[in-house]
Amino acid sequence: MKMTKFFLPTLREDPSEAETISHKLLLRGGFIRRVASGIYNFLPMGLRVLQKVENIVRVEMNRAGALEILMPMVQPAELWKETGRWDAYGKELLRFKDRKEHEFCLGPTHEEVITALVRGEVRSYRDLPLILYQIAPKFRDEMRPRFGLMRAREFIMKDAYSFDADEEGLDKSYQLMYETYHKIFKACGLRFKAVEAHTGAIGGEVSHEFMVLAETGEDTLGSCENCGYASNVELTPAISSEKYPSEPSKPLEKVYTPNVRTAKDVADFLGLPLKKITKTLIYIIEEKEPIAVVLRGDHEVNEVKLERALGGRAFRLATDEEILKITGAHPGFLGPLGLSIRVIADKSLENFPNFVIGANEDNYHFLNANLGETFKADLVLDLRKAKEGDLCPKCGIPLNFIKGIEVGHIFKLGTKYSSAMGATFLTKEGKEKPLVMGCYGIGVSRVISASIEQNHDNEGIIFPWQIAPFQIALISLVRDKLSLVEELYRALEENWEILWDDREERPGVKFKDMDLVGIPIQIILGKTFQEKEEVELKVRKTGERYYVKRENLIPFIKKLAEELSSAQ
Ligand code: ATP
Ligand code: MG
Repeated sequence: MKMTKFFLPTLREDPSEAETISHKLLLRGGFIRRVASGIYNFLPMGLRVLQKVENIVRVEMNRAGALEILMPMVQPAELWKETGRWDAYGKELLRFKDRKEHEFCLGPTHEEVITALVRGEVRSYRDLPLILYQIAPKFRDEMRPRFGLMRAREFIMKDAYSFDADEEGLDKSYQLMYETYHKIFKACGLRFKAVEAHTGAIGGEVSHEFMVLAETGEDTLGSCENCGYASNVELTPAISSEKYPSEPSKPLEKVYTPNVRTAKDVADFLGLPLKKITKTLIYIIEEKEPIAVVLRGDHEVNEVKLERALGGRAFRLATDEEILKITGAHPGFLGPLGLSIRVIADKSLENFPNFVIGANEDNYHFLNANLGETFKADLVLDLRKAKEGDLCPKCGIPLNFIKGIEVGHIFKLGTKYSSAMGATFLTKEGKEKPLVMGCYGIGVSRVISASIEQNHDNEGIIFPWQIAPFQIALISLVRDKLSLVEELYRALEENWEILWDDREERPGVKFKDMDLVGIPIQIILGKTFQEKEEVELKVRKTGERYYVKRENLIPFIKKLAEELSSAQ
């Protein structure tokens, strides 16, 4: 491809709309352009990368025996009503009506559509197992679309669905997809980790997320170097290495704490360590039942654990007004003592001697509270986020907490959708049973952002060989020998995808643009080419330069390409 015939609008300056490196570089490198919040155009460069990722996904899915289909983005409400998700899904589901006043939504995921398809077509155990997938746009009206392709509203997903006769079959399909995902992300040149995960709005029992390891990740993983255990921190059990001293309970003592509201302020005011101060949070379950959650001041509530404790019911934090009505005090002075609502205490308060609680009276706290003596909790369980210093639930070694970007998520759904929608098959014995399902997503467009977060430097993107928009950049600076340059370009083009910067631009501009867009190998035809027909070759990733005779160029690049495509 000649640059003069191409559409590659690069930008010199960082666009103000972009916060993360990948977002900035995708805009600056002319890969994407914003249409509306969380909605993007893919320009030729961006589309090339997207198609590279899509093809890797497609090849590995096909190898695993999955079959590609294409489902519509527009989905009728009736299907979502069958599973109850029309009401349960929340505002990420963009709902609308057609001219006949029929309700529809834009598909954020396709369990309903695929289950409806399969229930009409799959009749017998002989049709199983079956894995269907598509690579297509999804729409989720995200509360905070951000970071470009990372959290978009319209994005490209690969979603696959498996159908089996029983749990054993599902285990096999799940394992097959688990292994296929490893192959896909490896082939994309990513450094990643599979972790145990929460199932969220999709549902089901078992699930794993595939996390690309990067500082800018929105997820935190608890990961054990010793035994390999890894989970999303939403799920990581909080196992403290701390041993509490055995200290006799002291008498409760009310203290005046004027205007000190945060746990940190209370700790400073009383001259106590932060962990000795507890905080009490009031939540409202399903808009009717208030509950209190008590935990240490240096701990944070893990809302996924709380959701599980509440049996999956929806909840939210109470407003200041509601809090005043329930406790008689303003936030900052709340405590579990004397409340007429249910109290859930975090496990770390067990055997924790003489801690501080709010008095449910403005400007007062109590010293020397003890769980089970001063106040009773209706439930005591692990509700906090695991953090630095906590131990591996499998082997007891301290966990590492690292950041990750979720690029894939696989679920064992069981019969959640097939039972609700009547998707059944006949067993060998002629019995009718619901299909046992799994579902498997990959954020195909998010993979691009994740890769850039992992592979860049001050000059721009460093694409892994496998997903680069072009493999070789040809920068010619010579004014004569043009037919030789053309000949070289043709020879290269037979083997690789080449972007030839044939513009009348200053060398500096050409070098900067090529560094920015991250093509793995740069071939520079400059002085050495002019003088001795020697080609200068630069590896984008390492900056290494080689000078190669024109006639040796193709075999040289073949070797280099092999090294680059197998490097992680
Ligand atoms: P997240 O927790 O990041 O919102 P999710 O758990 O909602 O993700 P899934 O429903 O499992 O995501 O979707 C499958 C994959 O689609 C995810 O692993 C992720 O890579 C991708 N994905 C989800 N939401 C977005 C989004 N808003 N923009 C881009 N990719 C997304
Ligand atoms: Mg989401």
